[in-house]
Amino acid sequence: MRLGVISAARAMNALGLNRGTAGNVSARWRDGFLVTPTGMAYDETLPDDIVFVRRDGSWRGARRPSSEWRFHRDIYEAREEAGAILHAHSSFATALACLRSGIPPFHYMIARFGGGSIRCADYATFGTQELSRNVVDALEGRRACLLANHGMLVFGRGLRHALDLAVELETLCEQYWRARQIGEPVLLADAEIGRVLERFADYGQQETSGADSDQGSPGRAERRWRPRPGADGVPSTGAGGTSPSGQSAEGRDEPRTPRNS
Ligand code: 13P
Ligand code: ZN
Repeated sequence: MRLGVISAARAMNALGLNRGTAGNVSARWRDGFLVTPTGMAYDETLPDDIVFVRRDGSWRGARRPSSEWRFHRDIYEAREEAGAILHAHSSFATALACLRSGIPPFHYMIARFGGGSIRCADYATFGTQELSRNVVDALEGRRACLLANHGMLVFGRGLRHALDLAVELETLCEQYWRARQIGEPVLLADAEIGRVLERFADYGQQETSGADSDQGSPGRAERRWRPRPGADGVPSTGAGGTSPSGQSAEGRDEPRTPRNS
């Protein structure tokens, strides 16, 4: 498992999702989780450098855990389906996060993250309990969020799933960014996102007995999601699609519009 965490962290950088010692990766383990050490280059990180953190925040290891151990701990507490968490400062997600607005349903693959939006967590200083609270809030019914003026985060059933989702999220962020360069993307309506979620429920290679539990069909969050108008935290969608500039006052992001903190 320690090697798996290191491999995922190295892959995150090799795939261009992150640079240097930014970001962190963890996997649920026993009554806590294994997490990358703070401020260490991933290509120099060895299995003994990976830190075991318990639910009460105490930790065991030769190194200090990631400064973001609080949000890793709190996500595992809040979301039983989370088996691994990846946080990165990927370029497109981070650029959008600096605008402090979520990503609306401009593409159907947004639904892969559990619903019709990716929210942006309110800004708080890195490593704080406040940031952790904001992240857990932004993840409600979702398996990814942006972090204002900071980066992005995804969780998956396991490390492989989390890495796949991180690649998908950064791809969507780049596509959204590019679309916004040339116009106002037409947004998918809630009902269409609902249909996509239904299709995702049996899309692709379904889990078979004995298969790696890290693979397979979308998780419960995707199957459970139903449109909740105004609850998505991003620009709202109209029946025929609306543009991001048509933001509604009902959106959860509305009180989160840019402010300095
Ligand atoms: P760590 O090296 O402490 O994991 O911090 C990196 C980071 O991205 C903080 O948000
Ligand atoms: Zn960070």
